[in-house]
Amino acid sequence: MKIVTIIGARPQFIKAATVSRVIRDRYADKIDEVLVHTGQHYDDNMSKVFFDELNIPRPCYNLEISGGNHGVMTGRMLESVESVLLQEKPDWVLIYGDTNSTLAGALAAAKLHIPVAHVEAGLRSFNMRMPEEINRILADRVSTKLFCPTEAAVVNLQAEGLTRGVHNSGDVMYDAALFYREKAKSQSTSLEEYGLTKSEFALATCHRAENTDDPERLGRIVNAFGSIAKTIPVVLPLHPRTRKQLVDYGLTDMLGSVKVTEPLPFLDMVALEQAATVILTDSGGVQKEAFFYGVPCITLRDETEWVETISTGANLLVGSSTSAILAAFDDVAGKARQVIRETPYGAGDAAGKIVSLLAENKS
Ligand code: UDP
Repeated sequence: MKIVTIIGARPQFIKAATVSRVIRDRYADKIDEVLVHTGQHYDDNMSKVFFDELNIPRPCYNLEISGGNHGVMTGRMLESVESVLLQEKPDWVLIYGDTNSTLAGALAAAKLHIPVAHVEAGLRSFNMRMPEEINRILADRVSTKLFCPTEAAVVNLQAEGLTRGVHNSGDVMYDAALFYREKAKSQSTSLEEYGLTKSEFALATCHRAENTDDPERLGRIVNAFGSIAKTIPVVLPLHPRTRKQLVDYGLTDMLGSVKVTEPLPFLDMVALEQAATVILTDSGGVQKEAFFYGVPCITLRDETEWVETISTGANLLVGSSTSAILAAFDDVAGKARQVIRETPYGAGDAAGKIVSLLAENKS
């Protein structure tokens, strides 16, 4: 069986690493995986470092498509992915998450009548202004197998009339958290590198378009980071888009003593997440990693797809108001860590389930 896997963005490298490892370790004689990197994320520290660190095989194709408006990027990817699929003639196209690479892979395959398997199906923010929401709804609609990370995602699909081929596989990000947590602790030197003491700093990320492309929202968030940095160190690994917007909007001074870094390699990020007092983020993956590691999380968005983190009280959804962020920080900073005994994200064997269902072609 041949699977073409389409990836292009940082969180997809992490998810695909977990599934690819299962294919190589347990199904090497049955499954031939052809990796296609669209090029959506191309900086070394947003792409190459993940391939090296997470042991992802070199992509067979790098389409080198990045930048431009959504239409330009997705259109170019659609054309290039189609020619790869015509050449490779796979039995399945495997797509991840909710980026333009996900949508291009789904559309190219569906039009060629190649079945699509979507990992992280069924997530919804119910905010159609998010490019991610558009990408995942359309990708789900044309997928043959829909691997949901949670029961809530299964219910979302049911509400849209999608029930065939839907599986609650659990979340591959939980597999990744279990696999890399100890490795990160033993291998990363990021705490020393950034002069941090365990449980005495905040870790922040911000990259969602709804925040970075709105100077008012970004200003309020950065203002909150700057204020928190007056009380404890704040580390902010900066996404390239956010870095650009901060400069363009003239907001860099508001960061004050925030420790701004380049985007971190995954193991350094995981090491800092586990050691942080609190995490402030608008990232989907980081919200969940905070949950997996029992670290209180403040989410800088108006809604989240990861509703389970909210209902358990582990994550506070605060939006972008400076005062709301600071109030949430005061609220959680002194709180004890939660010990996670059971998660709604499966048992850490999501990748195994996904590959086994694909290999056996069970619907
Ligand atoms: N991440 C990383 N380095 C960073 C920031 C994030 O390795 O500097 C990891 C993070 O641990 C998580 C994933 O990237 O596993 C999340 O990706 P991102 O926030 O880009 O996307 P999202 O999850 O919001 O789709």
